[in-house]
Amino acid sequence: MSRLCVILFGPPGSGKGTQAKLLNASLGLAHISTGDMLREKIAAADGLGAEVAAIMKTGKLVPDNLVNQMVEEKIDSKESIRGFILDGYPRTVAQAELLDGLIKARPVCPVVVYLKVDYNVIIGRIAGRRQCPNCNALYGLTSKNPVVAGICDNCGSKLVIREDDREEVVRERLKAYDGETRPLLEYFKQAGYPELDIDGGSEPPQAIAEDIVKWIRSVEQTMAARRALEA
Ligand code: ADP
Repeated sequence: MSRLCVILFGPPGSGKGTQAKLLNASLGLAHISTGDMLREKIAAADGLGAEVAAIMKTGKLVPDNLVNQMVEEKIDSKESIRGFILDGYPRTVAQAELLDGLIKARPVCPVVVYLKVDYNVIIGRIAGRRQCPNCNALYGLTSKNPVVAGICDNCGSKLVIREDDREEVVRERLKAYDGETRPLLEYFKQAGYPELDIDGGSEPPQAIAEDIVKWIRSVEQTMAARRALEA
């Protein structure tokens, strides 16, 4: 039985983290967020923490080998046994190539979900974003407000503005996305991964998640039917 690998794809602020959490509620897969893992490294102040923090502050991408290694470990960990959702990975061709190798060496079925959102909407969203430094929960100023202003609903920690959510850094992140990440759509097409393109800017998150789950279920059914025919 092959494991599902959902590649959540889209520009920064397109709602990948929010969708990963909602999808998990129905699909029960591991949530692999390279951004959150990198922030954990910074918080743990381990050897590479300071170097990673300096890069993230500018909106540029951290080196491929570092994220590749983190992701490989997670994919092979117990929590990914039923499949996994990749949020913020792959972001470069080198990362996509490594992932493709990992997928081919394991019984893993990749699918791509591309969240399309207008850049003006993104800049507005990110400007209003607050995050819990403890459990990584995200809140907006216009949507998903915490019950008590400035305090995380889950764990009671004080919410913060991520350093890389300042407007000039967001523009750099969008530039990195345009230059290094968006071209991966072509890579996925060439590799033959099934892909869903979905508007991530107009519907409420729950409705988007429902559409994604429906599509994933239909891809799974098609794959199962194909396997049955081949057997
Ligand atoms: P967003 O998707 O909104 O930009 P993330 O939390 O996913 O937010 O990423 C924040 C930052 O972490 C990026 O700007 C980049 O510096 C770094 N990062 C995250 N994932 C990767 C990756 N796969 N490769 C390189 N850098 C990454």
